[in-house]
Amino acid sequence: MRVRVIVWMCVLGIMSSCGCSEKKTVDWSGYDVGKVEFRNLSPETEGARLYARIVPNPEQFIQECARQVLNTLYFSPQDSIPKVELITYELKSYDGVSAKSGNPPAIMITYSTDWIEKSYKGDLELLIRENRGVLWHELTHAYQLEPQGIGSYGTNKTFWAFIEGMADAVRYVNGGFTLDDRPKGGNYMDGYRTTGFFLAWLMQTKDSDFLRKFNRSTLHVKPWSFQGAIRYSLGEGYDVDRLWEEYMSAMGDK
Ligand SMILES: [Zn+2]
Repeated sequence: MRVRVIVWMCVLGIMSSCGCSEKKTVDWSGYDVGKVEFRNLSPETEGARLYARIVPNPEQFIQECARQVLNTLYFSPQDSIPKVELITYELKSYDGVSAKSGNPPAIMITYSTDWIEKSYKGDLELLIRENRGVLWHELTHAYQLEPQGIGSYGTNKTFWAFIEGMADAVRYVNGGFTLDDRPKGGNYMDGYRTTGFFLAWLMQTKDSDFLRKFNRSTLHVKPWSFQGAIRYSLGEGYDVDRLWEEYMSAMGDK
């Protein structure tokens, strides 16, 4: 249940500026996450009708999810955050799930009405969780920082594993996955959920600010690496391969 704590922190909105050890909660309500332009390109589909049932006000909903992502990735609005000015969000019938394109200041997210139909098994609560989860993942791509000095998403596996691992970690810690969704085994370089659940475990067991520090590591660790970023975030005594082994043991995967 601890995964829910992050979600509500921003709602509480109490700014603590004392230097004591009291846990700080940050108010993101005044942060401009960007304008949302919602486009329904397949209004005739059952998926679009289902979407309208679970999301009555897309603009407000997407901005609320964006603030949850920001609160997961950053310490405060004063951090170095890519400035997103426009989020174009499209509902469209196609064979796929969802995708983000473009870069700040203008990004686009497409969500498949076919996928909405496929993921609806008669339980609207599950459909809501799936929709939020996918959105948290894609919005992470809008606001996350990117590794430096190691190429790009398309050319470097470490870069790719960081980007997709962080997006699934943000999804998980906000409640968009359960432990049942965790893949067994693998390696932290596998990206998506395999990397994401590992990063979330580091946050849950080593440092509650881990995801924020790991995101921030891209500004300081050049060329970026998992090892360098783990040491930046947790301390020089840590080793990513040893942590992975510890994680595998803790999960009962080996
Ligand atoms: Zn992704």
